Amino acid sequence: MITKNISEGEYLDKLQRIYEQQKRIKLRPPLTLVCSCGTVFWMSNMYKCLYCKEYFCAKCAEAHFGKTVEQWRKENPSPINGNS
Ligand SMILES: [Zn+2]
Ligand SMILES: [Zn+2]
Repeated sequence: MITKNISEGEYLDKLQRIYEQQKRIKLRPPLTLVCSCGTVFWMSNMYKCLYCKEYFCAKCAEAHFGKTVEQWRKENPSPINGNS
């Protein structure tokens, strides 16, 4: 075992740094995904299904979830659902 003069505090700081880096690397999402319609979309523009965990584009999400956004807004009138 190498007995380099590194204090316990320095060692813990390093562990913390590595831990944070690994966390960031794991969290980095894929940039694009292919939808079931065959089109590539930015992941941030897609919608993940709660049940099957597949990501869908807006059009496919409406079909998958069985309702268009327009229909849902009509059924759920609320200031936060207003057209913006
Ligand atoms: Zn699609
Ligand atoms: Zn689903």
